[in-house]
Amino acid sequence: MTQMHRQSLLAYGQPLCETVVDCPTPRGSEVLVRIERCGVCHSDLHLQDGYFLLGGDKKLDVSAGRPLPFTLGHEIAGVIERAGEAAEGADVGRRVAVYPWIGCGACPACLGGEENLCASPRHLGVGVDGGFATHVLIPHPRYLLDYAPLSAGFAAMLMCSGLTAYSALKRLAGRPERGPVMLVGLGGVGMMGLAIARALFRTPPIVADIDAEKRKAALAAGAAQAYDPADPQARKAIMTATGGVLSACDFVGSDKSLQFATGLLGRGGKVVVTGLLGGTFSIATAMFGIKAMTIEGTLTGTLAEARELLDLVRAKNIQPIPTRERPLAQAQAALDDLRAGRVVGRTVLCA
Ligand SMILES: [Zn+2]
Ligand SMILES: [Zn+2]
Repeated sequence: MTQMHRQSLLAYGQPLCETVVDCPTPRGSEVLVRIERCGVCHSDLHLQDGYFLLGGDKKLDVSAGRPLPFTLGHEIAGVIERAGEAAEGADVGRRVAVYPWIGCGACPACLGGEENLCASPRHLGVGVDGGFATHVLIPHPRYLLDYAPLSAGFAAMLMCSGLTAYSALKRLAGRPERGPVMLVGLGGVGMMGLAIARALFRTPPIVADIDAEKRKAALAAGAAQAYDPADPQARKAIMTATGGVLSACDFVGSDKSLQFATGLLGRGGKVVVTGLLGGTFSIATAMFGIKAMTIEGTLTGTLAEARELLDLVRAKNIQPIPTRERPLAQAQAALDDLRAGRVVGRTVLCA
């Protein structure tokens, strides 16, 4: 019996520890994937804490319903190692990216193709053991997507940061044809958003981040202009340049970032929020009517969108954002660096 090594969460708020167990045996439609790469995502920090900050001292407890020790990690690419007798098409040796936002298959969201919004989700690395490990068990081969000729690390990060950015940009629906998209927050999702927006829209996006290094990286990656939202002149400069932004993505999700993004909107404008940083946001309700504005939230993306994104990345030859590869054993160090804001681009663990 092969053993699997994992960097496990043994207790909330505590560093990850290595645990070693026997590899699960896939049964029925299940597939065992030997992991090659697993991305490190900002939401892993919240899951490790056991809560999301909601603003003030309010917390959303997310520690329930997860057996410990637990394996975080939801940006997974690997090789099919074994398959159950009913796992059609799961050829051993096939290299695949894993769609992690797996639902129950029976609730209205799942039946509508939105497993990412499932009422009783089985999301990998969130509710079911994920990818900070050498192996992961997948319930059905439909979640395994071919990614050649992309790299394993890039394919892995497309399943969360890439998918989140793509799904958010899709929801801007027609507006990007009427002016540049504003991308707020240039972490992993924001930088992916920049690369995808450049492939989707004719006008290059404008971007905002409080970190000068990240603004520099975005300009090098093709942003038209980069602004510091903490600069009191930024809003005026953006309004002068655009006459009001019609489409914005808030990849930060704090009170400040959403205040900044909504404050830039012109009539008919929309902000799509994906970030989960936390805070409480207030706005004069009359502004919804006066500005005909929309604020919409998204959570990752659907299996169909994951396939669309892989096709788009291949067709438009979208390049990966700067990525640092680290051994699986450094999972905790990678989380610490992310928490301290020491990461430009993405970190990917190598099992
Ligand atoms: Zn993620
Ligand atoms: Zn469901």
